[in-house]
Amino acid sequence: MPDGRDAVRRYLEQRLELGESSIVLESMLASEVVAAKPVARAESGRAAATRTNERAHIPDWRTALQESGAEPMAQKSGRAQPPSSKPVKEPAAAIGKTTGNAPVDPDSPLPPLESLAEIATTVAACTRCALYATATNPVPGEGDPNADFVVVGEAPGATEDETGRPFVGAAGKLLTQILEAIQLKREDVFICNVLKHRPPGNRNPEPNEVRACSPYLIRQIELIKPKVILALGTFSAQTLLETRITIGKLRGQIHQFHGVPVVVTYHPAALLRNPAWKRPTWEDVQLARRILDSAVPGA
Ligand code: URA
Repeated sequence: MPDGRDAVRRYLEQRLELGESSIVLESMLASEVVAAKPVARAESGRAAATRTNERAHIPDWRTALQESGAEPMAQKSGRAQPPSSKPVKEPAAAIGKTTGNAPVDPDSPLPPLESLAEIATTVAACTRCALYATATNPVPGEGDPNADFVVVGEAPGATEDETGRPFVGAAGKLLTQILEAIQLKREDVFICNVLKHRPPGNRNPEPNEVRACSPYLIRQIELIKPKVILALGTFSAQTLLETRITIGKLRGQIHQFHGVPVVVTYHPAALLRNPAWKRPTWEDVQLARRILDSAVPGA
């Protein structure tokens, strides 16, 4: 005849091993009930579990899991999980950056942001997507807060992540030359990206990252009120214009983003790989320059 107390004891042993040390049973704590069988508690956890399950003719799930090499299943109790063996990089110290923030809903509204400086501070503490945890620095954007000309790229690369500044690597140097070719100095324009933190290994941005980050870009454009936006590359163009149309078809026309004319052209990184795109890029930036020149001052 199986002893009913053995079944209760096995049940409570399992609950204890799951960490529930305060199950109250008829005014006794679980630990006290289990302690009533000192021989079983003195054994190692695995030996006891194996023996217990042999008695009950049920496989020991812990042994089976360990032997299969599988990870233990996540517990559903909401209790903190043991630390993972995989190192998780803490966000680096950056101005205004906080650490250990829980990710927040990528669709939640932004707080009211009344200046570019406030946007930069908010981006530095942003956890709306997971990129903050792997990036070294936030890259909110830089330049003239009253610029008539705004350049929007895709996302920070390695050099931008290290420095916290947009377009300062090889592609950035080419961008500076392109701007100079239309008589614009870097410091006279505002340069930013769709994403404000670097995707690891420069992978393509994920849709949830774009959803989380694009409200910052929209707010930047609302505050700056530029006369023209130059969208660099497929990703920037397709995100700003909410389309899947290819860059070859988007370029050469004037589009709109939140009421501001947008000119699309090739990304400078793509130009470095494909010099044949320099001529169409030259035509595009001249179009952007013409829009700037024809804009009504102060309007
Ligand atoms: N490429 C981008 O799209 N943005 C940068 O800031 C740098 C490289």
